Amino acid sequence: MANNPIVGKTGREQGLQLCKVCENYSQYKLHPTRCPVCASPINLRTKNSLQKSWALLITSMIFIIPANLYPITYLLKNNIRYPDTIFSGILSLVESDMLTIAIIVFIASILVPIFKIAALAFILLAVQFKWRFSQRTQLQLFVMVDWIGKWSILDLFVISIMTAVFDKGHLLAVYPGLAATSFTVVVVATLFAAHSFDTRLIWDAKK
Ligand SMILES: [Zn+2]
Repeated sequence: MANNPIVGKTGREQGLQLCKVCENYSQYKLHPTRCPVCASPINLRTKNSLQKSWALLITSMIFIIPANLYPITYLLKNNIRYPDTIFSGILSLVESDMLTIAIIVFIASILVPIFKIAALAFILLAVQFKWRFSQRTQLQLFVMVDWIGKWSILDLFVISIMTAVFDKGHLLAVYPGLAATSFTVVVVATLFAAHSFDTRLIWDAKK
């Protein structure tokens, strides 16, 4: 294995590029713009990937503040509005002896978004400043962030169900608050930040 010239080399060093649509490998010199199999646009590295990811990640960092400070739902009971932030909502779940649901909401609404933002920021910083940190671990972290992404809409799903179930006109109703919109922005922005990131950049950082 030690004499194999390919071992330890990145695709780019071998002049190879991956089509993200059909996962076919092709020679960059022979097919510089389109995949020879499915004709999708192809490149060695996605253009401005790091900048796009940073822009979206910073957006989510900004919007996570109103998402936690402002009310996420308003409970309307006998014409009186009771606002609830994410955190006060969790506390009232604990007080109502719904500890399991409180833990799920805490994980989905507070822990997961913070973890995603922190992990993505770490990966982007490591790539940007060529930190000497295990590239394999960076990739595993990214795969985790990407996988969690599809579950982060869970909280909004809960709100939409609550709104539908509790809506009894003026007697008892639940309305989404400003934080629900902010939270949506956080979820969508982190999803797209992860999507914009070209994982192949991780392997360039060793240079
Ligand atoms: Zn293809």
